[in-house]
Amino acid sequence: MNRSDPGDMDSTRVAELAEQIAQRAEVLRRRIDAVARGPVEVVAVTKGHPAVVAAAAIEAGFEALGENYAQELRDKAPLVSGAEWHFIGRLQSNKVRLIAESVSVWQSLDRDSAIDAVAKRAPGAKVMIQVDLAGLEGRGGCGRAEVPRLVERSVEAGLSVVGLMGVGTPGDPEDSRPGFRWLAREAAALDLPEVSMGMSADLEVALSEGSTMVRVGSALVGPRPPR
Ligand SMILES: *Cc1c(COP(=O)(O)O)cnc(C)c1O
Repeated sequence: MNRSDPGDMDSTRVAELAEQIAQRAEVLRRRIDAVARGPVEVVAVTKGHPAVVAAAAIEAGFEALGENYAQELRDKAPLVSGAEWHFIGRLQSNKVRLIAESVSVWQSLDRDSAIDAVAKRAPGAKVMIQVDLAGLEGRGGCGRAEVPRLVERSVEAGLSVVGLMGVGTPGDPEDSRPGFRWLAREAAALDLPEVSMGMSADLEVALSEGSTMVRVGSALVGPRPPR
């Protein structure tokens, strides 16, 4: 199915999918409650799924939805009401205008040009600085040493910096622990309330290191169709 296809958007289909998501959400809630140190926001990551899945996530009680690709979000947003969209993918500056009206939180700012583009198209928006924790090519994120400067630049550009975001290392979730620990400490040092870290596979490690926001795709909405 094409990612920007609404899918079969009738209310029976939405209700059916919402039921599945609600069941997975119960399992997720238990995983979170077992380790969380404080309140945790869940961003339901709907990338790669049709709009009907995003509508079902809303129906199942989620509000914050995460997307990685600008065109996909642009096509999906008008079909899904009640969502607070978090942009969590690599952000090309020239795509910012496509989604500026839809995005509530820009989680993946990692360089000057992206900051400037968001400040221009979405003045005053809530943003996070994405840090490269794993040293992975192509996953985005700034170097650790750059974080204070990018936070300052964002503030000077009039953006509201709410936290830091990071993606763990693939493989053994324990391998992500040192990076997660660093990210939580850096956010605290910079007086930023949100630490967005932890996905389906590594959320326990992230939460035990102080994550305030997990971004969960497959464990909530099922496996993604291949891109
Ligand atoms: C896809 C993605 C997620 C969700 O991943 P799952 O493993 O499906 O939970 C979270 N954060 C980012 C940045 C992603 O790209």
